[in-house]
Amino acid sequence: MKTWDTVVIGAGPGGAVTAKALAAAGREVLWLEEGPHLSLDSCEPFSRAELEQKYRCGGLTVTLGRPQIQYVEGRCVGGGSEVNSGLYHRLPADLRQAWAHSHGLPEFTEPDLAPHFADIERELSISYSADPPPLPAQKLVLGAAALGLTAHEVPRWFRGDRKQSMTETLVPQALAKGAQLWADWRVQRLQRRHGRWEIQGQSQSVLAANVFVCGGAIQTPALLQRSGYRGQIGRSLQMHPTVRAIAVFPDQVNQLGLGVAAYQVKVGDRYRFGSSAATSGYVRLGLLDYPGVEVPWEHTAMYYVALAGGEAGGTVQTLPGYGDPLVRYRLTPRDRTELGQGLQQLCRLLLAAGATTVYPGVAGWAPVRSPADLESWPVTLPGTARVMTVHLFGSCPLGQAVDPWGQVAAGLYVNDGSLLPGALGVNPQGTIMAVAQRNVQHFLAVA
Ligand SMILES: Cc1cc2nc3c(=O)[nH]c(=O)nc-3n(C[C@H](O)[C@H](O)[C@H](O)COP(=O)(O)OP(=O)(O)OC[C@H]3O[C@@H](n4cnc5c(N)ncnc54)[C@H](O)[C@@H]3O)c2cc1C
Repeated sequence: MKTWDTVVIGAGPGGAVTAKALAAAGREVLWLEEGPHLSLDSCEPFSRAELEQKYRCGGLTVTLGRPQIQYVEGRCVGGGSEVNSGLYHRLPADLRQAWAHSHGLPEFTEPDLAPHFADIERELSISYSADPPPLPAQKLVLGAAALGLTAHEVPRWFRGDRKQSMTETLVPQALAKGAQLWADWRVQRLQRRHGRWEIQGQSQSVLAANVFVCGGAIQTPALLQRSGYRGQIGRSLQMHPTVRAIAVFPDQVNQLGLGVAAYQVKVGDRYRFGSSAATSGYVRLGLLDYPGVEVPWEHTAMYYVALAGGEAGGTVQTLPGYGDPLVRYRLTPRDRTELGQGLQQLCRLLLAAGATTVYPGVAGWAPVRSPADLESWPVTLPGTARVMTVHLFGSCPLGQAVDPWGQVAAGLYVNDGSLLPGALGVNPQGTIMAVAQRNVQHFLAVA
């Protein structure tokens, strides 16, 4: 059987950086992706069709714990980049410094990483919108000012109106450089045989000298565990726990095709507010805890409070006989208190921005119509809170579960969000891509 030089598993942002860099350096690359290869236009953004086509389990994946946390993963060529909002941040300097120190990371200084971020910014056309702030963002700006806070615009990977996801950028570039992409190909297990890696799929196997696992922060540790690697693998999952609130305004704030307003409010180091996509389907889903409530959709917007990185941690654990891993995440009392305080402050902000009613994302809680309604809230967010997250990392941290460059064993590497040693407090894709480029360039220099 043929032995490939390198196999890259997973075609999300981490895998795309890896496959493109390897192919551009003239390495032979076979690229395996579990999900389908679809164009950015295969469905409406933030639609039910998108959930069905491009998310793992249609987006219905939850952690064990109380409150349960709904987490979502992209499952298609492009991974999360095909479904996400495109908000870009660099890794905050204090965090970079702390990680370099605590995890013993070489070549992790500002001058080391800056060229990688600059490459990503060029490849993905990172830019600010040329349009005035959309209406939900204007409300965020107004409410923040009333509370003495500031809402900032966040740059995005958009070229005009078109999101620069991986299928729009690095995937075609990697293919043009000779990478071979096999979609709908799930890797079940890796096995070392006679100095090579056997990559076992559902009905077929391939051999490779080098393997990069880029399945994302849940699937990468799961695949490594199925392949016999345990130790620290999957034992330190991190996320940004998030709770949403739905606000109804007297004036129009919503319209078809609005997308996500790229504005955020940073509240100290603990949490951040922002606005979410509020399609009619998403609003209906968000109101499931308020049976019978009908809201005027054009007057309705969705917002969130996201914890920048709490005390809690989680685990990813494969179970014999099950395809999907068990994910546990337990918010500490302090996390629940801070998330509760954040939700309360978000409701205040929305009322100050003119909202007539705010539906907080906690089952059993009454709608909020005035600041006085917030006085009776408990200090700690209850177990019935609808906590969710779209940001997952930290399950195979650099310099801890794997070596400081992502190596697991001879010829076996991780190169995706699972490597980031902790929660970032900001949107992570830019950092995942920059760190992946650092690692793959190191591989090319030494391998
Ligand atoms: C709705 C949503 C909104 C978001 N908004 C933003 C944002 O605005 N800004 C930002 O920075 N981040 C955002 N994110 C997060 C961002 O998309 C992720 O951090 C990023 O995609 C993670 O990249 P990754 O390469 O680690 O993994 P992923 O993107 O998860 O890619 C992993 C890929 O590997 C494949 N795979 C997994 N296991 C296997 C296997 N066994 N065999 C073959 N293939 C496999 C998966 O199908 C998937 O396609 C958002 C995410 C979501 C879901």
